[in-house]
Order: sequence, then structure tokens, then C-alpha cells
Amino acid sequence: MKKDNKPAASPREVFKRIGLRATPQRLEIYEILNEIDGHPASEDIYERVRKRFPSISFDTVYRTLSQFEKHGLIKKVHHLADKTRYDTNMMHHHHFVCVRCKKIIDFTWEELDRVPMPEGVSQWGSVEDRYVELRGICRDCLKEGKE
Ligand SMILES: [Zn+2]
Ligand SMILES: [Zn+2]
Repeated sequence: MKKDNKPAASPREVFKRIGLRATPQRLEIYEILNEIDGHPASEDIYERVRKRFPSISFDTVYRTLSQFEKHGLIKKVHHLADKTRYDTNMMHHHHFVCVRCKKIIDFTWEELDRVPMPEGVSQWGSVEDRYVELRGICRDCLKEGKE
């Protein structure tokens, strides 16, 4: 998550605003989401929460993440079907996905956002979001392949 351009609202304030009770577990999960770089999977978050709350179940973590999603704190990333990944970057952006290490890199693409919609789009329904996913091999993986 980009910490620099985020307003510094405390987790308790955020929870109050969306009407969620600030339980210690929720606060911990929220903090972990803010700490982890990139697009953590629910499994990654679960592993971290367990360090402080050893008896917490995966189900609880997953349900909490779903609540956060419902309240617009995070977004689900709909690909890499092996795992549910969460996005803490709520600004409009696109993804570069590394097919090897599954890293997701955020980027903006203003030119693309301005391209007119294809003809016939109104026959399919109404568009709510425009998102592209570029798939490839990230620089770290490229480097590894050369060594
Ligand atoms: Zn990679
Ligand atoms: Zn993202």
C-alpha cells in the first residue's frame, strides 16, 4: 500500500466511519493489510495474524476481509485463481502480473482510460469499470532466469 498519499486516519477512525466494531482482531488485520506490500493473499494475512492471535481461524480472517471489501477498504483481485488476493490501493489502476512469481505491480495508463468504448458495448450492458491486466515475467524473474 502506498503510505505517502494516504490520509492519516487511525484504524479506529476508519472503523467508526464505516460502522464496524474495532475488535483487536480486526485492527490487527487492518494493520497487516497496511504493512504488507503489494497484493497479499488471504493466506498471507492469516499467517501474520496468527502470530498475535494463535487461536484465530482462517474462516474468521476470510470473513473479516470480506467485510472490509464490502465497506470499500480493500478490493478483491479477480485472477490467479489459486488464491484470493486483496488490493489495498483503491485508486483506479491496472495490473502487471508476473506469471512466474505471481507478483502484481500497479500502474496507471491514462491513454488507455481515454480510448472510446468498443461499438456495441451498450448491447452487452453498462460498464462500471475499465481494467486491464498485463501478463508477463517481472524483472526479478527475468534476472533469475539469466543467472
Ligand atoms: Zn516474477
Ligand atoms: Zn493493484
